[in-house]
Amino acid sequence: MISAQAAGGEPTTPALTMTAAFEGIEGSYSHAVLDAYATRRGVTFVPLGCSSYRAVAHAVLAGRADLGLLPIDNAIAGTIREGYDVLAEYALDLLAEITWRMDHRLLGVAGATLDGLREIDSHPVVLAECGRFLGSLPDVRRVPVPDTGIAARDVAAAGDPARGAIASADAATRYGLIELANTIADHPENFTRFILFRAPDARGPATEFEPAEDFAIRKTSLLFTVADAPGALGRCLSVLGAHGLNLSKLDSKARLGVTGQSTFYADVDGDVRDERFAAALRELRDVSVMVHVLGTYDASTAPARIRRAPAIVVDDRPPVVPVPAKVAFPKAQRQGEHARSRVMVGNVAVGDGAFVVIGGPCSVESREQIIATAEAVAAAGGQMLRGGAFKPRTSPYSFQGLAWEGVALLAEASRASGLPTVSEVMSIEQVERMAAAVDLLQIGARNMQNFDLLKAVGKCERPVLIKRGMAASIDELLAAAEYVLSEGNPNVILCERGIRTFETATRNTLDLSAIPVLRERTHLPVLVDPSHGVGVRRWIAPLCRAAKAVGAHGLLLEVHPNPAEAKCDADQALTFGDFARIMDELEQIPIA
Ligand code: PEP
Ligand code: MN
Repeated sequence: MISAQAAGGEPTTPALTMTAAFEGIEGSYSHAVLDAYATRRGVTFVPLGCSSYRAVAHAVLAGRADLGLLPIDNAIAGTIREGYDVLAEYALDLLAEITWRMDHRLLGVAGATLDGLREIDSHPVVLAECGRFLGSLPDVRRVPVPDTGIAARDVAAAGDPARGAIASADAATRYGLIELANTIADHPENFTRFILFRAPDARGPATEFEPAEDFAIRKTSLLFTVADAPGALGRCLSVLGAHGLNLSKLDSKARLGVTGQSTFYADVDGDVRDERFAAALRELRDVSVMVHVLGTYDASTAPARIRRAPAIVVDDRPPVVPVPAKVAFPKAQRQGEHARSRVMVGNVAVGDGAFVVIGGPCSVESREQIIATAEAVAAAGGQMLRGGAFKPRTSPYSFQGLAWEGVALLAEASRASGLPTVSEVMSIEQVERMAAAVDLLQIGARNMQNFDLLKAVGKCERPVLIKRGMAASIDELLAAAEYVLSEGNPNVILCERGIRTFETATRNTLDLSAIPVLRERTHLPVLVDPSHGVGVRRWIAPLCRAAKAVGAHGLLLEVHPNPAEAKCDADQALTFGDFARIMDELEQIPIA
């Protein structure tokens, strides 16, 4: 039983008890959402696990459950069409939206290891949310099962260390599984929205729910259909805009054989009881083929209120909602202990739990040079290959790089060695072509505040490595990351590469103190580039060790087959032997 008493406290009045239907079994996310909701509202829910979304609606309409809960969308995977479609198919009275952070864990039986897994079971939407992480395990089969609770239960029952399940920490405890990995969703802000509902003619305890009076904290979900004609959708959106109504979601529904018209799922802030909203709906009907209001409910900022005094007030924290905080770096800042990003570059995971070394020449100079370097980097255990093709040189008379020919050679070396690649992109025009050819786009120190370039890489799909400007503060580096993140690209890696100070003995001053500061302030992975940091070959090795000890997630190092002949940054280029020795020394230092 899901119960407020379970969390402790003395009842003051008899607990309000309701049966709540959800899809799945105990240990599923829906179950956890109901559990938390019951605790927060001071009511008792008797859980009724169902085998499908439709079965949840049936249980409520048939009076077997007082309430039902269905997920309708996820921040990473998008609209959960089945959830919306069931709400559209059955006449239900929507009560509240609940937004829940999906903190996925990879679970296995005692003795299982990440390397030993051959199969991972989970809900298909959850598998989609962890696509990048699963992409790093190419030999592991992904098996969709109806629910995360079922995945955890079945893996526990099978007792096979080659099988894993993606589910919540609660499922791990419930089914006696161990955690093999955490923070595995593609983005830490992985929220799912659920809708709590009752039957339209509800009797009994569900009638205790009261809608909020304030229309500003209500939300309405609807489906509307427009003709396939120029401007048809625009006219519908203009109606909402003209009435001052904000559209917080718009997604198109699969057409499946329908021609001549398109249907959209939409969420609009406001309440159908509001006269302004009602007028907008009348006009919307005039300019569309069909409007179907699924219902109005309390937005997650406004928990559905219950008329009766709660039996036990266990925990009256506000519900978990992704309210953007008014801070300078809302997307880059670290939020909580577990909210760390892991950025996948090809099949290499950059972030906590790993130390990734990127090696390669300052600039790609020839096929022989880059292929030999790639092989040496891979043989020494380096995980990624660097190589500049467009070089930001102080003097226009210095070697400027091989441009696209260099990019093609880098790609060839990547195919030959299996290493993912990083290369600098200097202008907006280069972004699209570079993104197609390399795995990680480097923004150089001199371009860290080229805001249009940051916006352009923010709009593309490739991960981005931002090097700290040589006169940039930590705040300015985070602001640069914010430019990329705010355009929708969540895959940002930062790199400390030395700053200009009064010191002239070294090329720059490698600011290793920035590493603990950044680790505290941002969820983004942080690399160190000692090559540009000190600029002198023999001082690079100790700083590599220091960088690992101080908590960097990896290194960016310049390596050349014959440093004396390097066309760029010769003084700081490591030989293959230097690089291999550094890799050996790093083995002795634990990951911080
Ligand atoms: C480089 O990595 O070769 C480079 C030009 O670095 P930075 O932008 O840090 O000077
Ligand atoms: Mn260089």
